[in-house]
Amino acid sequence: MGGAWLQTMAENFTSPLIELRGVRRLYTSAGETVAALDGIDLELKQGEVVVMLLGPSGSGKTTLLNVLSAMDSPTEGTYRFLGEGVPTAPDALETTRFSLPMPHPLLQPLVWPIEVSVRLIQATIRAPSRTMASRRRAKALEAQASFRRRNIGYVFQQYNLLGDLTVLENVMLAQEIAGARDRTHAMDMISRVGLEGLHDRFPSELSGGQQQRVAIARSLAKKAQLLLGDEPTGNLDSETTQQVMDVLLGICRKEQVTAVIVTHDESLTQHATRVLRLDSGRLQSDERGAAGTLVGKSKAVMKDALDTAEDVVDTVRRPVEAAIHGGLATAKALTGVAKDIAEAARPNRKE
Ligand code: ADP
Ligand code: MG
Repeated sequence: MGGAWLQTMAENFTSPLIELRGVRRLYTSAGETVAALDGIDLELKQGEVVVMLLGPSGSGKTTLLNVLSAMDSPTEGTYRFLGEGVPTAPDALETTRFSLPMPHPLLQPLVWPIEVSVRLIQATIRAPSRTMASRRRAKALEAQASFRRRNIGYVFQQYNLLGDLTVLENVMLAQEIAGARDRTHAMDMISRVGLEGLHDRFPSELSGGQQQRVAIARSLAKKAQLLLGDEPTGNLDSETTQQVMDVLLGICRKEQVTAVIVTHDESLTQHATRVLRLDSGRLQSDERGAAGTLVGKSKAVMKDALDTAEDVVDTVRRPVEAAIHGGLATAKALTGVAKDIAEAARPNRKE
């Protein structure tokens, strides 16, 4: 009895941070269905600090990050975060318009009144159920946004800073939207990315690399448990990329934030505790990364290695010129209310 209870407790404590089961994400356009994700089973533990996600263009990397951040919902399968189901939202309703076959141009005026009347009748009949559906959807989107505010930091290629806010205000806005205003922590993050003393500057008074570091600070300032990066170093030269990754991952290790970073850069796997490869919406391989080999060694060795890593991070912090952004979602989301995040960042592009 007591044993079973203990076991349940232990299981609760070891709930994976992320658990995807049979996740598929289907997109249908022009009558054709594409499986952007095609049966993903994935568990990430909290100790897995840095997970690199590689794969060719179109393999589903961005879709996977969007599902993890609840900006998108699986079509099938389940997503649990610390053992709890993550809220999902239905796709927006398709609007199909009634129209008659195109007659001779001279006859068109005869057809218009018919089309208009049929559309009006359709709209009147459908209005109540559409209103209900869109209310349900709005509520679901809000639940997703709330999940995201509490748990997710996001780092993009663009910096997405607000030009009329200072460095500190940019960082604190992200905290405010997450409901976790904490000036001391914001200042701490700003100095950790090497921008000590620059908190009162406006983005236009900083170099591109410095702006990107503000974005890193912003993504980490709200104490998210999961940091997602979609090719955050995609715009950087290789030296700068290494420096930025050192800063970003050094902080993640120290704060025990799990980071899932999409990259095309094989050399970055040296920073990874785990390396995932996607192809055609499926996980092709799932390996321990170079940084993951620390796990098997003795604690002392591990501590040494981590201390050295911290030293390296400290040394490179100052000259970092880098590219990243985080915190919330898009610049649009930052300018508006937090509710906008879901809509602003919802994938509606086509490649
Ligand atoms: P990656 O980030 O690895 O380049 P994506 O996740 O962006 O890949 O896309 C995976 C596949 O899903 C691609 O074939 C892409 O065209 C398709 N896809 C992604 N988003 C949408 C969408 N909103 N509508 C239709 N197809 C999409
Ligand atoms: Mg992508």
